[in-house]
Amino acid sequence: MNMRLKSFVNSEWLEGDGKLVTLFNPATEEPLAETTTGGIDFSAALEHARSVGGPALRSMTFAERAEILQAIYDVLYSNREELIELSIRNGGNTRNDAKFDVDGATATLLAYVDVGKQLGDRQLINDGEPVQIGRTPRYAGRHILSPLHGAAVHVNAFNFPAWGMIEKAAVALLAGMPVVSKPATSTALLAFRMTEIIVASAALPDGAFSFIAGSVGDLLEHLGPQDVLAFTGSGQTAAVLRRLDAHTRRSVRINVEADSLNAAVMGPDVETGSETWQMMLNEVVTDVRQKAGQKCTAIRRVFVPPAKLESFCDAARERLEDIVVGNPAAPNVRMGPLVSANQVDDVRAGVEALQAQTTKVTGELHPQELVDVQDGKGFFLTPHLFRVDDVASAPLVHEREVFGPVVSVLPYEDNATLIDLCAAGGGSLVSSVYSDDRMFSRDLLVGLAPFNGRLTHGSSKVAGISPGPGTVMPMLVHGGPGRAGGGEELGGVRGLSFYMQRTAVQGYSALLDKFF
Ligand code: NAP
Repeated sequence: MNMRLKSFVNSEWLEGDGKLVTLFNPATEEPLAETTTGGIDFSAALEHARSVGGPALRSMTFAERAEILQAIYDVLYSNREELIELSIRNGGNTRNDAKFDVDGATATLLAYVDVGKQLGDRQLINDGEPVQIGRTPRYAGRHILSPLHGAAVHVNAFNFPAWGMIEKAAVALLAGMPVVSKPATSTALLAFRMTEIIVASAALPDGAFSFIAGSVGDLLEHLGPQDVLAFTGSGQTAAVLRRLDAHTRRSVRINVEADSLNAAVMGPDVETGSETWQMMLNEVVTDVRQKAGQKCTAIRRVFVPPAKLESFCDAARERLEDIVVGNPAAPNVRMGPLVSANQVDDVRAGVEALQAQTTKVTGELHPQELVDVQDGKGFFLTPHLFRVDDVASAPLVHEREVFGPVVSVLPYEDNATLIDLCAAGGGSLVSSVYSDDRMFSRDLLVGLAPFNGRLTHGSSKVAGISPGPGTVMPMLVHGGPGRAGGGEELGGVRGLSFYMQRTAVQGYSALLDKFF
């Protein structure tokens, strides 16, 4: 019999009733677990978080909440091996990909332990310096941030069940808000086990953390004016959430982290085979291979000078064709399957659409040579590389996010058209510029900034020490304009403000200095 997942609400573990959804091992299609949230009273769950978890967290200082994050880190880290194993089984991850998710979660916790320690024995944040607003310095104004009194609902995507859950939870808990976390159902096993471990450790006060194993049901309809919703997933689901009454009528804040057609740009100065060229090639290939390209930050569009189109495609093809694809439990496999049958159907459809406007350099939609995979089983395809010779004939490259191991290489003529081409993605989470030419690099970084949440600059000075654009940094903001959702998460202390009210306070300056 399959394992049955439970939700943790009202400080108790509950099995839902009704139609069950099955979770699979995407490499073998073996069922692993099943779950439903039917019959769970989400209104009561939210109220419990607000009325029990909220006051407990708000009574603490930032330093005390940082101790909670440290305790969560300790308990997750001590179960790291088990979590990595689960990530391999339910996520189709190679061991390295599983570590990327699990260690990303714990590293983010540690980063926010530091933020909490720096904020120290306080419960409010002063936002900026006081300003004199009267004729004399006696009358002043200032801004303070204080935690909202509602619940922070987190809805996450399937690709990072560990990191996605923890990066949101760490920030909300540190800010002083109780969390109700819902992972994507298809890969929820890892997040479920992490929650079991956290709950068993008693690191958190009662009501501070709730977990939903499956559909959100009517939960979002019960959101009130002090609640917030942080969502990571497709633009399509984001559009549904933005139409919620809670948002349109009760102004519930929504942060959206959605799709992104991230760009990588090669400067005209970059010589074939140079250190900067290799760095760019490595980062492009990593983003195709890692988590089988199911990374919101993965490079999807590569722009190179026309004279380098051929040589870059050749070099990338060689590297991509070397990647061993198969069951990620096998030690020599470097790329596993996509996470689900839906996902592989979606990516195959996307590949076929791209193929109509581009030239396929490499990639198989139904690969036969897979390591340690039973015939016909699993949700596999091999790395795909597309080449575009005439950018005007390939608008789809800038429109369709194919959420798998797929990348397109395009030529550009000059800086102005290059920035326009990058911007044609409609707003991205991250883009990267590779060049040792200072003028070109500055023009591109400045030109691309309005269209991106994060930029990375690759050059011979940082080759070998950059984690690449695909790795989200807890101390830097994550999120992007337009298609990317218009949201912003993380960024050190900046991330806390989503969970706090900014209030302007005016009065006698000496008194305000004492209060805050
Ligand atoms: P998705 O289908 O939009 O699902 C995301 C989450 O929303 C899941 O937890 C899903 O739950 C839930 N959901 C679906 N429909 C809902 C509804 N009507 N009301 C409330 N919740 C709903 O996206 P996905 O397929 O998991 O993730 C892939 C997408 O996420 C890609 O487009 C990728 O670019 C994006 N992504 C973005 C980031 C980022 O940081 N910007 C990170 C990762 C992924 P169920 O699983 O139960 O349906």
